[in-house]
Amino acid sequence: FSSDADFQLQKEDAGPSHSVWTAENHAVDSLRKKWDRYFGLINQALVTYIPCGVSPSDAATCFADVIDADLKPYQNSVGITAEMMRRALPRGILYQVRGHRLYRQMDCLFPARCAGVEHFLLGLVSDLPEMELVVNVRDNPQVSAHEAAPFPVFSFSKNADYQDILYPAWTFWTGGPAIVSYPRGLGRWDLMRERIDAAAEKVPWEEKLPIGFFRGSRTSAERDPLVLLSRTRPDLLDVKYTKNQAWRSLKDSLGEEPAAEVSLENHCQYKYLFNFRGVAASFRLKHLFLCESVVFNVDSDWIEFFYPGLKPWVHYIPVRTDLSDVEELLEFAKDNDALARQIASRGKEFIFRHLRMEHVEAYWRKLLQEYGTLQRFPIEKRDSLLEIRA
Ligand code: UDP
Repeated sequence: FSSDADFQLQKEDAGPSHSVWTAENHAVDSLRKKWDRYFGLINQALVTYIPCGVSPSDAATCFADVIDADLKPYQNSVGITAEMMRRALPRGILYQVRGHRLYRQMDCLFPARCAGVEHFLLGLVSDLPEMELVVNVRDNPQVSAHEAAPFPVFSFSKNADYQDILYPAWTFWTGGPAIVSYPRGLGRWDLMRERIDAAAEKVPWEEKLPIGFFRGSRTSAERDPLVLLSRTRPDLLDVKYTKNQAWRSLKDSLGEEPAAEVSLENHCQYKYLFNFRGVAASFRLKHLFLCESVVFNVDSDWIEFFYPGLKPWVHYIPVRTDLSDVEELLEFAKDNDALARQIASRGKEFIFRHLRMEHVEAYWRKLLQEYGTLQRFPIEKRDSLLEIRA
């Protein structure tokens, strides 16, 4: 790997005699010095990066550390007790696996989200041991990191302030946010992968617009500075707030009319795509990679189960949370187009190869098989539960 593919190209263009010091050499050299820090970060990231395998059982190698870390509080002689389940119960939806059948409490707060969870559980239930699990289908995690006596609640996202057990979000199948392009809600990751991949094919790298792009609602004020910068630097950014169900007034789109939504397929026209946390992690991230544009991921410790497999400078360009380096990073990407393209390719390859539906299923399987072995109480019939069938 060359630390500066562009520099190499320009050097070759300058002719065979590198010993002749020309103004052009000087310009290239000062450009190289300008970006040295970032070249160093990319090199370092690539040297330390250990890729994982590609078969579904490699969901284990790519993301197994997450399962180990999440189940660690229960991997002891106490395990998961009936008392812990009693405390978990008010924090989510109770499911039971009994006799290789799936049962759930009557009510689900968000039926489409429960359906998205149940799709995966039903696919596994014939292989699962007896167990009870509490699945939180809200956006926010439920178990504080400061909880001295933790209890097991499954959530799709968390940050360092929580110790919930991560599970692959319902939206891999159904129940994601509904926008104009996806009126039934963002879901069917298997189909979205194909659709965005096909859209990406239609826009070769050279034809992508070299500006930073984001469309989304104001689910976190951390997005504000980029929206504001876009208003003064339309040459650099096209970043606008859209309207979601929580939109009440122009204040929710920072004083301007909300912009029309843009489908994830149409994001592929842009070379630099921004991801931010929202209320928790945003479902957007995995989709952005499929465009094979460069993902500019704004630093945040809100994660989904697969985030730890993605590495800064290997798969995406990390941006400071306060966005103070964003202009410089965009300039870097423009000045070093070949490097930016390599980051885009590695990001796409990771998501395309390691986050297929089979991997999501394999993650659920490994998670629940290990979780099941930790329960140390008899799983008894509860009258209030209803059987969930395919
Ligand atoms: N979204 C989209 N196009 C838009 C606006 C939103 O594709 O113009 C998608 C976005 O990628 C995300 C979901 O809709 O997956 C919800 O976006 P929003 O910004 O409202 O919330 P987030 O979940 O990112 O906090």
